[in-house]
Amino acid sequence: MATATISATKQKHVDIKRNDTVKVITGRDAGKEGRVLRIFPKTSRILVEHVSMVKKHVRPNPQRNIKGGIAEQETPVSISNVMLVCKQCGPTRVGHDSRGAKKVRTCKKCGTTLD
Ligand SMILES: [Zn+2]
Repeated sequence: MATATISATKQKHVDIKRNDTVKVITGRDAGKEGRVLRIFPKTSRILVEHVSMVKKHVRPNPQRNIKGGIAEQETPVSISNVMLVCKQCGPTRVGHDSRGAKKVRTCKKCGTTLD
């Protein structure tokens, strides 16, 4: 049997950067908007503020001044489940343009530079 070797480890280009505002389009938190806190390019996932929160039970640790109880924490969501939010027109797809030697991201809808 002939098998074609396809590299599955090739890193996908990610159009989302830290501190971008994104809108969740699918899943439990669909419709929520938040700031991007972290990016995980290898898994194509991002951490979005106040999105995909999970409750975590925390033990009290008086030495580190940690009170016991339930803490909430973000978990990474797939990049394909969010859209970048354009300040002019809302959730959009990202286009690319070059301003001289510099590549910039643009809004596909209105053309505004997103960087
Ligand atoms: Zn726009």
